[in-house]
Amino acid sequence: MVMILAGKVALITGAARGIGAASARLIGGEGAHVVVADRREDEAKAVVAELNAARPGSALFVSLDVTDEAEWQAAIHTAETAFGPIDVLVNNAGIIRVAPIEQMTLENFRKVIETNLVGTFLGIKCGAESLKRAGGGAIVNFSSVQGMEGRQGFSAYSASKFGIRGLSKSAAIELGPHNIRVNTVVPGPTKTKMIERPGWADEDYDRMYGKYPLGRMANAEEIARMVLFLASDQSSFCTGGDYVVDGGTLAGKPRD
Ligand code: NAD
Repeated sequence: MVMILAGKVALITGAARGIGAASARLIGGEGAHVVVADRREDEAKAVVAELNAARPGSALFVSLDVTDEAEWQAAIHTAETAFGPIDVLVNNAGIIRVAPIEQMTLENFRKVIETNLVGTFLGIKCGAESLKRAGGGAIVNFSSVQGMEGRQGFSAYSASKFGIRGLSKSAAIELGPHNIRVNTVVPGPTKTKMIERPGWADEDYDRMYGKYPLGRMANAEEIARMVLFLASDQSSFCTGGDYVVDGGTLAGKPRD
């Protein structure tokens, strides 16, 4: 069977868990060397061990705080030294803080913008040269349905996710001539630690999302499949786009 990313090198941020880990599994499963970049060392190393058990020598962990430019440069250097120039960069790391604007602390607002938007900017800024050395490739950024519409309490998150779409489109224009495609995934509600609420059971989540067209949350792999598509040559003519994977959340008003 032909593997669609055979011999490619992929760096995925926030790959210790959730959608990032699911993306690492799918991308690694298609023959790529995977650099699992995260602040959560133990969970990230468990993902690396799983990938290396499936294909020895195919994955490594780099400690990365996406808000730190020097750490980005070190991570790219480590990845290149181990596997060669990066073909695929997935800027998946993200955080959320929910509070009405009047109660949102400046510190929390800045933290969300810094991690989600500035972290993605730094990934593109520090990674572009490596992708050029690879002869081109793909950058996949992460927005959200809250990057398409606002929501009560989501000012910081929503602002960061709208910003990522704008950043991606400018990057697509700048990097297209270097054969680097830049696209944005727009996930809807997905079962990961990010959206976990203390004391909630599966039925509580189903009730919350039951009024949307598909009536449930996604699992992380359903989002990762779009990441894989955008990372591979199967999306060879796609750049500057927003790719919604939301179970119909944005289709219109929910059912009564
Ligand atoms: P998650 O919380 O399960 O995983 C996020 C990962 O990012 C964690 O491993 C965390 O350690 C890492 N991370 C956070 N800050 C970091 C930093 N400064 N440096 C390096 N790593 C950092 O979340 P998830 O649900 O898998 O989310 C992945 C992406 O998908 C995020 O960008 C999120 O905004 C987006 N998204 C998620 C949902 C959802 O419902 N889960 C919906 C839309 C968009």
